[in-house]
Amino acid sequence: MKEIILNKKNIVIVSHKNPDGDAIGSSLALQNYLFKLGKEPVIILPDIFPNFYSWMKGSEDIVIADKLKEKANKLIASADLIFCLDFNDLGRVGEIGEEINSSNAYKVMIDHHQDPADFSDHIISDTTSCSTAQLIYQFIQNNGDLDLIDNSISEGIYTGIITDSGSFKYSNVQSITHLIAADLIKKGLDHSKIHENIFDQNELSRLQLLGYALNKIEILPDAPVAFIAISLKELKKFNISKGATEGLVNYCLSIKDINVAAFLREDKEIIRMSFRSKGNIKVNEYASRNFDGGGHHNAAGGKSSLDFKSTVAKFKESITQFLS
Ligand code: MN
Repeated sequence: MKEIILNKKNIVIVSHKNPDGDAIGSSLALQNYLFKLGKEPVIILPDIFPNFYSWMKGSEDIVIADKLKEKANKLIASADLIFCLDFNDLGRVGEIGEEINSSNAYKVMIDHHQDPADFSDHIISDTTSCSTAQLIYQFIQNNGDLDLIDNSISEGIYTGIITDSGSFKYSNVQSITHLIAADLIKKGLDHSKIHENIFDQNELSRLQLLGYALNKIEILPDAPVAFIAISLKELKKFNISKGATEGLVNYCLSIKDINVAAFLREDKEIIRMSFRSKGNIKVNEYASRNFDGGGHHNAAGGKSSLDFKSTVAKFKESITQFLS
């Protein structure tokens, strides 16, 4: 793989829509590693990322395709190597997906989601990995370049790992995850600062929304399911920025004896859903069967184009059925 990288000139790194900590962290980690190899890769994300990632080195240079469509398309069209990180289906990157599909560049997918689609020349897919960021560490390791890992690479890897593993608490965490974290800390990573930068960045409006949302938690009578459903009208009462509802679903899962949690949020013409579960309950299966979604066993997403009320009703009925 290193040979291929060294022989390419125009490298682009792409990750998925609604970029999360793993999308951004793995992209920046890979970018900073490729800088060390003398390359000048550009990161393209389909749309904007939450503010609480803007402390990351290089985040200011990320090309947001939504805002800079032409630039993004040009970069992809002239690329000879494209890294696709933290997604495995071009449907996850919006309009630039077509551009990537028609590009002749050598495409490398590095990802940890189930069922990778067939659009790349080289696939590094490990569904047992907690994060793509962890795979980036192993990618660097396989190239024999662990000694090139500096603080900016460490921060990207660590950010991806903690945001996709619930700060090391989900079942996707392996011993290797901790060994990687240990190595990064040994190299000088300030892990505590990263937690502060990501998790202690609440805006008051977000906490007020949280208070409101917690009051709306519903528990199903016949299944160990807790959920929050919020309509567009309700959301508009709070002056919230993008990503403000991220993590609300986890409060539902923290309730005693609850094994499945969901967060349903009305968007302009669609209801977006996040699902979480404990143990062997596969919410990705549930999401793909009922809500055109997917993801991981214990963390998945879905969407519905029914109206808000009907979606909530469908959710209640289908999840009860799924668990019985
Ligand atoms: Mn991920």
